[in-house]
Amino acid sequence: NADMAMYQAKAMGRNNYQFFSEEMNKEMMGYLEIEKDLRHSIDYPEDFIIYYQPKIELHSGRFVGAEALIRWKPEGKDMIPPDRFIPIAEESGLIVPIGAHVIRQACLQVKYMINTGIWPEDGKVAINLSARQFSDPDLICKLQEILEQTKCPVHVLEFEITESTLMDNVENAIFTMRQIKEMGISIAIDDFGTGYSSLAYLKRFPIDVLKVDRSFVMDIPNDLNDMEITAAVIAMAHKLHLQVVAEGIETQEQIDFLKSNYCEYGQGFMIARPMPSDELERFIQRPLQANLM
Ligand code: C2E
Ligand code: MG
Ligand code: MG
Ligand code: MG
Repeated sequence: NADMAMYQAKAMGRNNYQFFSEEMNKEMMGYLEIEKDLRHSIDYPEDFIIYYQPKIELHSGRFVGAEALIRWKPEGKDMIPPDRFIPIAEESGLIVPIGAHVIRQACLQVKYMINTGIWPEDGKVAINLSARQFSDPDLICKLQEILEQTKCPVHVLEFEITESTLMDNVENAIFTMRQIKEMGISIAIDDFGTGYSSLAYLKRFPIDVLKVDRSFVMDIPNDLNDMEITAAVIAMAHKLHLQVVAEGIETQEQIDFLKSNYCEYGQGFMIARPMPSDELERFIQRPLQANLM
């Protein structure tokens, strides 16, 4: 209300510095509290739930896989979105056990869908790997253990890694990517176009898939520059023999534009929102929607 706004404006005007440091203080408290709650939840892994966002082949509408997206609900508190707690989990190193939990759950749930016969033969489950996980020297060992325990076939796995994670230490990144590839796991570059990876490196990375960031897709067809960039990125990816996934598709016009530019795969609210695994099972078995073909 107006009184409150006036009061706040005055308070800010009078003592900007104080206001700023109080904000920072609050943020710090938020950080520490989230870190404390994250630590607690590691002993209660049911606080973490894996949602799956379907990925379809754009020209056929066929389900070709899903991205695993973590959700966190500490007991007695509201759901906290990944953008708020993943950076803290990353900073504190807690992402390593949390990320292992995501991989294990995804393997278990996909293995179940393979057993029940609904998972398509070429379907992939894409899992986001953060920088700390990617540079963990035990990564490969832990992966082998999870695959053994869950009996999940390795070829269904795909890791999504961002450009900034890869550019952190290029030589190490190439080495780790090779090990991942040798196991039989595919690699996708996530949020492509938002980081600053050089095209020269793109050629050297053993990657299979390029995910065009949502920020380029969301203003199609209103932003001509974004349309040009998206079309160019798709064409370049194909020249490098990479498959392309467009993220964040929200409208039919975006689907049509991407299809006419030969983008193979798509994800976004227009197709489906992230959902729990039981809903994903129903999604996979649904009849194809005519508008998505
Ligand atoms: P991301 O990997 O780029 O995932 C895509 C994000 O875009 C997801 O947000 C998804 O819900 C959202 N999204 C998908 N389609 C649309 C759309 O049409 N419109 C809009 N507005 N948004 C869409 P979410 O689930 O909140 O995850 C945010 C980020 O958190 C992810 O970005 C990823 O970087 C990170 N994250 C999520 N789960 C994990 C995880 O298990 N491990 C790690 N390391 N990071 C994760
Ligand atoms: Mg991702
Ligand atoms: Mg992304
Ligand atoms: Mg993102």
